[in-house]
Amino acid sequence: MSEKIIIAIDGFSSTGKSTIAKLLAKKYNYIYVDTGAMYRAVTLFAEQNNFVGKDFLKSKALISNLKKISLSFHFNIELGFAEMFMNGINVEKEIRTLRISQLVSKVSAISEVRKKLVIEQQIMGKERGVVMDGRDIGTVVFPGAELKLFMTASADKRAKRRYKELIDRGDNVDFKDILFNVQERDRIDSTREDSPLIMADDAIEFDNSEMGIQEQFERICALVESRYI
Ligand code: C5P
Repeated sequence: MSEKIIIAIDGFSSTGKSTIAKLLAKKYNYIYVDTGAMYRAVTLFAEQNNFVGKDFLKSKALISNLKKISLSFHFNIELGFAEMFMNGINVEKEIRTLRISQLVSKVSAISEVRKKLVIEQQIMGKERGVVMDGRDIGTVVFPGAELKLFMTASADKRAKRRYKELIDRGDNVDFKDILFNVQERDRIDSTREDSPLIMADDAIEFDNSEMGIQEQFERICALVESRYI
């Protein structure tokens, strides 16, 4: 393998971006950065401090407290991926709840939140050899990334995957709430003013509604290897 590259994976909620990203990072010995986890952790902080709730968002208060948030990833050998820590506490489980999913897009639309996290993400990728997934990686965080993927799938397929994930880990959730949340997040993420979710001009689109993980992974590896390594 020659030079390490940056692999940017963007796309709608629950399109399996992180599954593919983790597999790629393992295969090529790259660092995986789940930027959604960072937005989720900031949302958890905002919720704990009463800056955001179902019917309110206190942007100013959150913005003036952003410097109190310290985020880091710690690799968990047993799980095979890095878990999200916020101010020294492992928040991996809590940030994945439907409750946080219902608040995160509101918080992620705040420019100051984005500025803070984008800087941290650019630092994490500056040595290259990184697979980063999110909504604005190929457009804003690393517009020069050598490989950009844009994942899509039908809302129904995505909600089914997400529902299974949450049920498997013991959360008590309704399918219709998950479906609504997936669609609502897509709507807010795609229409916000700062860094909306859009496909970069040079990204390769992957509709995986009917494609299994193994097939996607093989296709993407072929892309990585034939074009960039
Ligand atoms: O990737 P995940 O679904 O965990 O992301 C949660 C939310 O974080 C998204 O719905 C979006 O609002 C926000 N996000 C973002 N920019 C990123 C990654 C995530 O705005 N790069």
